[in-house]
Amino acid sequence: LEIDSLRKTYGKGNNQTKALNGITFQVMAGEFLGIMGSSGSGKSTLLNCIATVIRPTGGRIRMRETDVHSLRGADLAEYRGKKIGYLFQSFELLDNLTGRENILLPLSLHGVPAKESRERLQSLSDYLEITDVLDKFPAQMSGGQQQRIAAARALILRPDIILADEPTGALDSGNAKSLMEKLSGLNQEHNTTILMVTHDANAASYCKRILFIQDGVIFHELRKNVPEESRPEFYERI
Ligand code: ADP
Ligand code: ADP
Repeated sequence: LEIDSLRKTYGKGNNQTKALNGITFQVMAGEFLGIMGSSGSGKSTLLNCIATVIRPTGGRIRMRETDVHSLRGADLAEYRGKKIGYLFQSFELLDNLTGRENILLPLSLHGVPAKESRERLQSLSDYLEITDVLDKFPAQMSGGQQQRIAAARALILRPDIILADEPTGALDSGNAKSLMEKLSGLNQEHNTTILMVTHDANAASYCKRILFIQDGVIFHELRKNVPEESRPEFYERI
């Protein structure tokens, strides 16, 4: 995923907010990338642009070379449905559907065969430890359980990238830790690519690389577990 000189301005005339002021970065397959910044720094705007929920004012977003904002019709539906999985702070489960029905909903929209659906549901439920709440409604689940159901829904179509917007924001520290361990495990064991925005330092500590954003620009990058001599900054210094 390539983000190139991305800009987003809300409003018109003297009532403008420049939410993104030229953001450039790439997410490689298998990365667990965090974006940290305080409230109002532009994090949700960035994810919403990537998810094609809102249209940027300038710049490009390319997924495997394709400009995602040039997609139309079936291609756009495929991108939104199958290339990205979205995990929200507030879970966004459908209240009148059970956990199982919430998870299976994307499959029915994209015509995955029943046998394969059952197998994917089974393995995700085992991994996320939600087997015993699958037939409950969201109101009967704890927040931690609701977010793990939402994670299963985001993962069931095997998207190229998971976009997570403050996924631990509504969870207590115990549930936040267990969610982050699951996401981190998916990244390490299954190479699931994750882009997570957060202002939770504990959540960000699971990321391999963190970009810091303020006033719509990236002002710092932190890489972990990368030998110093392979970092570009190392060569800039010497
Ligand atoms: P974050 O997710 O980091 O809290 P946002 O992307 O939500 O930041 O917001 C970035 C800036 O854009 C803020 O100044 C916010 O007030 C403004 N903003 C966000 N959404 C809108 C909108 N729909 N209309 C006008 N301004 C907005
Ligand atoms: P976890 O920490 O695994 O997310 P909890 O220990 O908070 O779950 O919850 C244990 C059980 O209590 C669950 O089976 C869940 O269905 C039920 N439960 C928890 N919170 C609520 C709630 N707010 N409303 C209804 N049931 C709840």
